[in-house]
Amino acid sequence: MVSARERTLIVGGGQAGGWIAKTLRSEGFAGRITIVGEEIHPPYERPPLSKTVLLSAEAIGETVLLSSGQAAALDIELTLGKRVTALDRAARVARCADGDAMSYDMLFLTMGSRPRVPDWMIEDDRIHLLRTLDDAARLREGLRSTRRLLVIGGGWIGLETAATARAMGIDVIVVQATDAVCSRSLPPAVSQWLLHLHQQRGVRFCLRETVQSVRVARGQVEIELASGLHLSGDRLVVGIGNLPNSELAATAGLATNDGIMVDQVGRTDDDRIFAAGDVAAFPCTFARKTVRRESWANAQNQAIAVARTAMGLDTTYEQLPWLWSDQYGINIQIAGLPEEGIRTVFKAGPGEDGGSWLALDECGVPVGAVSAADPHGFRPLRKALQARSAVDLDGWAEISSSGD
Ligand code: NAP
Repeated sequence: MVSARERTLIVGGGQAGGWIAKTLRSEGFAGRITIVGEEIHPPYERPPLSKTVLLSAEAIGETVLLSSGQAAALDIELTLGKRVTALDRAARVARCADGDAMSYDMLFLTMGSRPRVPDWMIEDDRIHLLRTLDDAARLREGLRSTRRLLVIGGGWIGLETAATARAMGIDVIVVQATDAVCSRSLPPAVSQWLLHLHQQRGVRFCLRETVQSVRVARGQVEIELASGLHLSGDRLVVGIGNLPNSELAATAGLATNDGIMVDQVGRTDDDRIFAAGDVAAFPCTFARKTVRRESWANAQNQAIAVARTAMGLDTTYEQLPWLWSDQYGINIQIAGLPEEGIRTVFKAGPGEDGGSWLALDECGVPVGAVSAADPHGFRPLRKALQARSAVDLDGWAEISSSGD
């Protein structure tokens, strides 16, 4: 448990790191709090980066989680643009790339995740990953002179970027390795609905395709796909999944396995070290297995639970997985684990596009829900999933994976 005289160090200045610092203070911790972050920006939230921030620099204001002024007011020290490269657990010191050493009594690891970089990747102004505010600023600038955008990966980064680019009148082609988009978080019927939504809005897809090679010539990005097909465009965005930044913990001898292994409330196998957010692999009660969750909701709520645990407060972290996306003005919400259902039922929403889908397991028990442009339909489903209670299926239609 953290006592008032102790020094708390948070490695990772993202959303989870920001929430740990804010929670320690709001719960009454009076000791020293330092956030050390590799990016130069104070803690911010990432959801707008593939949406409004690509449209306008003014939207950067929507991302602020803990500004320099707010941090100063809470007596939270922000040490930004600095990389921690090693942990000396015996001496309780974090060593930085610039030679600095930062001592701690209690350490929180919130280093997040980074985009997976394909082996064909080359460095060029026209080729983008999208993770940070600086990545988003560079892409926003580039999109202003882009007529055709190539996107590799039909996941959340790829599709949100595609929808934003279409709103700017840009032609978009998405290359997706399998025949379904966002298939790790959606059941087949919803994945097909989302694919159709993008196709109706003019996005072209190359499904079951991967990239063989990339080159930039005469101001164009040219890619060759594994099938031999050639595509060209003014710009390329790659969003093929993320990897946890857990190497620092692994090198320090903490248990890692696709993330830093923690218990349900973020404790590592060192009683002075906690982890939260994208980097933490924890036993999820809802999934009944160890998972990492790269979501806004997890970065916030797990961080709050972990900070409370470190303060010695009675805490659990048993929240239903939840995420949302905004594409073409349609708000999509996902609760539970809909991708794990074996049956899907559907109920139309109030508008033309969307409605709600409920995924059921082999016993007919709801395991997840997706709603598109249907917040009123979503609310009771989310509640039922959290309470693990039944849903009255009167008025719901059984659907095949074609979504019709
Ligand atoms: P993602 O959602 O996991 O999607 C990656 C996509 O790329 C998948 O469709 C994957 O196909 C495909 N893929 C993988 N390797 C490929 C290859 N070599 N060529 C073509 N396609 C390939 O990851 P992401 O879009 O990069 O996003 C990164 C993380 O941020 C994810 O955890 C995501 O959930 C999160 N994020 C969330 C939101 C939101 O909640 N609204 C928004 C943005 C990002 P398969 O899965 O079929 O293999």
